[in-house]
Amino acid sequence: MSAGKFEYAPAPESRSVVDLRSSYGLFVGGEFVPTVDGRMFKTVSPATEEVLAEVTEAGAEDVDRAVRAARTAYDSVWGPMSGRDRGKFLFRIARLIQERARELAVLESLDNGKPIRESRDVDIPLVAAHFFYYAGWADKLEYAGFGADPRPVGVAGQVIPWNFPLLMLAWKIAPALACGNTVVLKPAETTPLTALLFAEICQQADLPPGVVNIVTGAGATGQAIVEHEGVDKVAFTGSTEVGKAIARSVAGTPKKVTLELGGKAANVVFDDAPLDQAVEGIVNGIFFNQGHVCCAGSRLLVQENVYDEVLDRLKRRMATLRVGDPLDKNTDVGAINSAEQLRRIATLSEVGEAEGAERWSAPCELPDRGYWFAPTIFTGVTQAHRIAREEIFGPVLSILTFRTPAEAVEKANNTPYGLSAGVWTEKGSRILWMADRLRAGVVWANTFNRFDPTSPFGGYKESGHGREGGRHGLAAYLQAGHPKAGHPKEAARA
Ligand code: NAD
Ligand code: MG
Repeated sequence: MSAGKFEYAPAPESRSVVDLRSSYGLFVGGEFVPTVDGRMFKTVSPATEEVLAEVTEAGAEDVDRAVRAARTAYDSVWGPMSGRDRGKFLFRIARLIQERARELAVLESLDNGKPIRESRDVDIPLVAAHFFYYAGWADKLEYAGFGADPRPVGVAGQVIPWNFPLLMLAWKIAPALACGNTVVLKPAETTPLTALLFAEICQQADLPPGVVNIVTGAGATGQAIVEHEGVDKVAFTGSTEVGKAIARSVAGTPKKVTLELGGKAANVVFDDAPLDQAVEGIVNGIFFNQGHVCCAGSRLLVQENVYDEVLDRLKRRMATLRVGDPLDKNTDVGAINSAEQLRRIATLSEVGEAEGAERWSAPCELPDRGYWFAPTIFTGVTQAHRIAREEIFGPVLSILTFRTPAEAVEKANNTPYGLSAGVWTEKGSRILWMADRLRAGVVWANTFNRFDPTSPFGGYKESGHGREGGRHGLAAYLQAGHPKAGHPKEAARA
């Protein structure tokens, strides 16, 4: 225990609330079914490397069955259903998520490694809020600005990452269903369990079979979903590399696509900012969720005249972070999600040192088993350094300085990404001046990593295209522009 940290007795959240099965099939047509052409793999707790359950790696035929189930449900029940009735199902799902919040939070922390404090207070409440929000839209789509009678797209193929497993599921499924689409969703291979629990919630809500299909697996399964010709819309969140491959594979097809990819956000601290608050914002910006956040504030830009003071306060604050058991209610920073991700973080950090930046890690004891990385900062970073350009997706902050607002804007925008940014200053006029110039989908002022279902989220440049959340998030799941035109497949049916 380092100086400055209080001794706390362990306060572990009980695991008994979670009822794990030893083995999970695929959720297709409203039931859990065994694989036809896939195989099984194991999902572990990254904090202990303990095997939690065996899940299915779906093959192409499994994916085909799921897409067919989604198509049948779209044609026979969900497409024709009134928005009012769809809304009732979504409200029911939202309430069940609230009722089972503790179970979902514990399972999320077990499978992902994130602190229970975050899954309990951030992830799961936002998941429920997302379903409530889009439930409210289901019977009001004609007022959303997409024409008098906006029509769904059809079957959505959705592939999500491991950093916010259930929240990314909510971002994908809630608007899709509200608009009258059915879905085939694949969670990430390291975090499939809350999506499978969500499948049970769909059963509990009596959602018509086939409206939601959950197909587990890795990249090949994701590819089979994306390339399936029965899929009308592809929604992907993950790495820019895979996003580009998906963009290539859907080019020339009638599929609609939204991509939410990486980021390298600048968090800009001016000398007139309330520094203690700014330090909290810096910590929240990069160490929240172990830095596994696409919009993480991974590039800190500090005005030169307050650099020493900010750095000093930041180190002091970082020394108080508690790293360890994700299920302990006092934990601030949990486990890195996988051995592979840990390797990526470690490698890029070594590159940072080799390129001449100075590394400092918070003093903390890391558990022997599991995947861990101490909260780390790099100083003496230049814009040419790889740690300033590439997404690390871990608890690693690069610190740069600037003198004038214009220099701050130039440095902040000097990235192939553009998902988010933060501005810390006392002056409202400066916030607006910066927000006008920062090429980022979200600009937070005197706060960071705030999410709300009513607010659209998405990127510029290589951070992807399309928006999720808010009224804007409906666009991806409606046939925009031609309210009555209909999809070719729908026209054939009409
Ligand atoms: P990834 O892009 O490989 O995986 C994301 C999802 O896509 C997973 O469900 C995966 O199974 C699936 N997938 C993989 N290959 C696919 C393919 N060819 N076709 C369709 N689906 C495919 O991301 P990762 O390997 O888990 O992480 C790598 C890097 O991606 C991270 O270091 C980070 O920089 C970035 N990342 C960003 C986000 C984000 O929220 N923007 C989330 C996770 C990872
Ligand atoms: Mg796992």
